[in-house]
Amino acid sequence: MTIREMQEEILRLKTEKDVCILAHTYQSHEVTEIADFVGDSFQLSLKAKSAPQGTVLMCGVRFMAETVKLLAPEKTVYLSSEHAGCPMAEQLTPGQVRDEKKKYPGCMTVAYINTTAELKAEADVCVTSSSAAEIVKKLPAADILFIPDVNLGAYVQAKCPEKRLHFMNGCCPVHASVTAADADAAKAEHPGALFLAHPECRAEVLSRADYVGSTAGITDYVKNSACREFIIGTETSVAVHLGFEYPDRRFYPLSAKLVCRDMKATSLPDVYRILKEGGRPLELDAALLSGARGCLDRMLALG
Ligand code: SF4
Repeated sequence: MTIREMQEEILRLKTEKDVCILAHTYQSHEVTEIADFVGDSFQLSLKAKSAPQGTVLMCGVRFMAETVKLLAPEKTVYLSSEHAGCPMAEQLTPGQVRDEKKKYPGCMTVAYINTTAELKAEADVCVTSSSAAEIVKKLPAADILFIPDVNLGAYVQAKCPEKRLHFMNGCCPVHASVTAADADAAKAEHPGALFLAHPECRAEVLSRADYVGSTAGITDYVKNSACREFIIGTETSVAVHLGFEYPDRRFYPLSAKLVCRDMKATSLPDVYRILKEGGRPLELDAALLSGARGCLDRMLALG
């Protein structure tokens, strides 16, 4: 089968079996082409709720499939690859978070959406990279335990000086791998390009950016900019997708290090096999479901 033949078969099967395919922006282009919707974690979580289909196939990583199940427990949810975890989402244990909370009496716990359902169950509210500062500002507590990403946390702290944010050593190993030297080298190589960066990057990288935002924010920035060249400071797939969307503009990945192996664990044949043969639906036990759901509902109410 060629790529195109497999894509056509996938489109036929998903219609026949009433499946909604959601794909994160970090998926390969051949996968995003067959998706009903492509977006970042927040956009996908909203789509998960409103999709009319009874079955959702998440092309992304495990915490994203869990988020779909939490928001739409009545749906059958499949993850595109059993091997697609997220190192950041799994860096902390619920016990570690409970111990840390005791150090800051009266604090509220804010969990980045890139966390396991078990960690979400420990949190008061969930946030995305685009909603984090807005939501933290609205919380009644002055002390905030922000898990797990210290880099996103530092970015939020700078926007919310009235709050005291406390951290626990988590980060995205992909975004945290790029340094100020990488940013300086990319800017020197492409002096006419604007530099757009994701807040999971280190502060030393963000301080060199012309714009900092989520993947959806970066995409919107490009759409509204008159500039023709951009250095893209997030997973390299975003630069590829933007190249297809705006073929008359140039997009340079900030660094070849910005490749997420977990996001790349999904192949087009994985999607095809699940649609053709079925897969193992994601299950969350009822107690975990109700424990973790609350912080997502608060995010949707506050964000
Ligand atoms: S890019 Fe980072 S946060 Fe996103 S899935 Fe990969 S490891 Fe997790």
